[in-house]
Amino acid sequence: MKDKCQAHNLLSENQLKITKQREDVLSRIIELDKPFNVNELRSVLGGNFDIVTIYRILEAFSRKGIVREVSSLNGVRYFELSCVHHPIHPHFICEHCHSIYCLGAIDYKDSLKLGKYADTHSISGISINFTGICGQCGVK
Ligand SMILES: [Zn+2]
Ligand SMILES: [Zn+2]
Ligand SMILES: [Zn+2]
Repeated sequence: MKDKCQAHNLLSENQLKITKQREDVLSRIIELDKPFNVNELRSVLGGNFDIVTIYRILEAFSRKGIVREVSSLNGVRYFELSCVHHPIHPHFICEHCHSIYCLGAIDYKDSLKLGKYADTHSISGISINFTGICGQCGVK
């Protein structure tokens, strides 16, 4: 297994039509390697993308499961890459600096156990977030 996915391959593996824009956006997401919001993504993409376009691309990616929504912080939605290198994991959100940290992956079986609480509902995604004060803010 390579240590990072190639945007081009990830698109074709997921039967997404390959366009220059999609490939650019996905490459940046792979490089970022952490949760991001649309504004952050836009700034690393440079001026050629408007927010609406980026959202449209992200929607397409999340439908195919290439990105997942991590959480929303003060109404800002955060996404991250979802691929073999990035299995589902909990996140830690600092209430002070609003950083989002990726925590270690949880056992898939463990997360399925949690699913039993959903009872008759049908589960399409799992997100687990912890909130508190991060190590950076705590030491001050
Ligand atoms: Zn990957
Ligand atoms: Zn913090
Ligand atoms: Zn994460």
